Amino acid sequence: MPTFIVLLGPPGVGKGTQARILSETNKLAHISSGDLFRENIKNQTELGKQVKAILDKGELVPDDLTISMIRDRLTKPDCVTGAILDGFPRTPAQANALETMLAEFGGEVNAVPYISAAESILVERASGRWTCKAQGHIYHEKFNPPQQAGVCDIDGSEIYQREDDKVETVSKRIRVYLDQTMPLVEHYRKAGKLIEIDGTKPVEEVTKDLLAALNK
Ligand code: ADP
Ligand code: ADP
Repeated sequence: MPTFIVLLGPPGVGKGTQARILSETNKLAHISSGDLFRENIKNQTELGKQVKAILDKGELVPDDLTISMIRDRLTKPDCVTGAILDGFPRTPAQANALETMLAEFGGEVNAVPYISAAESILVERASGRWTCKAQGHIYHEKFNPPQQAGVCDIDGSEIYQREDDKVETVSKRIRVYLDQTMPLVEHYRKAGKLIEIDGTKPVEEVTKDLLAALNK
């Protein structure tokens, strides 16, 4: 049976950072909806053109566009053993669609780590984030700087500050999260799948807590 893990948590809490580590240690595909949208924008696809202004404003892309993008991604060969979903689902409609899709593939959502931290920490993390242009590797100007300023350690590409990581847009994204995504915390808690993780700790400790909880 494939394993599907949904990472829940507000913008900037560290989902992408942890998802990359977990996908390597657990040999699962890493599916980041934000990365997929940014790739479409970079490649100027039809979808990219439709969603660019929405991402820049910090609002959510409509459910139908998001769900069909994820459905496509889930049919790729690297998902046969399962995946870590980072940034999807973000609305109750997306969560329902995910359940239906996974049932088609003979799987289900197995665990939902919910990483949380106070808003001041989220703003500090997101507004200091630098992202690699080629593959979305994640840095922080203070907490995880690259060895050479402006250059990705892993693939040598340029690193840039996301348009939506400006302080005002980060605050807007946190409001959108509280309004539209928080209901999923209760949804997965009721389903007995929620695992609460303290996201205020350093990266390595959060990883340790996640692995311990997932291996239970
Ligand atoms: P998310 O995907 O939840 O938006 P990211 O993984 O992109 O979050 O992390 C947001 C920013 O915070 C990045 O700059 C990252 O380097 C940094 N970061 C992630 N986890 C931690 C942590 N535990 N402690 C300090 N900084 C962190
Ligand atoms: P973060 O990791 O900081 O939470 P993401 O990279 O996940 O940010 O998302 C960036 C933007 O992409 C969101 O603000 C939203 O516009 C869009 N997006 C990503 N995932 C979804 C989703 N599941 N549903 C709707 N919009 C999404």
